[in-house]
Amino acid sequence: MRTALVAGNWKMHKTLPEARELVSALREGLEKLRPGSSEIEVLICPPVHMLFPMAKAVAGSRVLLGAQNAHEASFGAFTGEVSVQMVAETGCTHVIIGHSERRHIFGELNPVLNKKVRAVTGAGLIVIYCVGETLADREANRTQSVIEKQLSEVLSADVSPAKLVLAYEPVWAIGTGKTASPEQAQEVHSFIRGKLIGLYGKPGGDGVRILYGGSVKPDNADSLARQPDIDGMLVGGASLVADQFLAIIGATLAEKRNKSPAGS
Ligand code: PEP
Repeated sequence: MRTALVAGNWKMHKTLPEARELVSALREGLEKLRPGSSEIEVLICPPVHMLFPMAKAVAGSRVLLGAQNAHEASFGAFTGEVSVQMVAETGCTHVIIGHSERRHIFGELNPVLNKKVRAVTGAGLIVIYCVGETLADREANRTQSVIEKQLSEVLSADVSPAKLVLAYEPVWAIGTGKTASPEQAQEVHSFIRGKLIGLYGKPGGDGVRILYGGSVKPDNADSLARQPDIDGMLVGGASLVADQFLAIIGATLAEKRNKSPAGS
């Protein structure tokens, strides 16, 4: 059974004191939830300048630390950039790559995303690779072909499935308050699962977690998490509010327990 994962993408939000307060509330809330280590993982992805202090803030807790992006080169003349090696030095274990804001605002295309994904997994970190269609793509029935391209052009054979997490984030649902219905999300997750099995074989592809992201809130997390191929959430806005993020973690954990055969 796949371990669930709930990841918070803080984007460019929070001051350092606010971040410390949020982590402290998360730690307290997780103590009460008492999840088993193979049941669920919880990850926060703060802005890059906070990675060192947040590594201290989460130390000794169940909260893992991730970066929102990283450059594909290890070192070099790339003013303003931070490499995978650099974020790893802070204690990061995960890096988000290919978020739709990176694709659409910063113009990151599949070839550079392939380099970034390989840099992350090559350094031994876990990549959360984001895919998803725009509203225009969905309305033109291009959802599957867009996602197929985002997978085939980025996940080369040297990307280990053991270091890979997928996140399906329909662009039209990110930060808009519109969520894919659980059925719409499951349909795409199942499509992605088939592609991963095609790429990595049955055990490899079956083991990759596929998160859903796009306006996940406490009131829709349970119906999404109930779907067989939804293994957790990538949460933006609601991850900035401790009570909301904890409620999403709690709902995902409860559904994970319902899905697991007894004892697994
Ligand atoms: C995201 O930033 O990845 C995201 C899904 O944001 P939100 O939850 O706010 O839609």
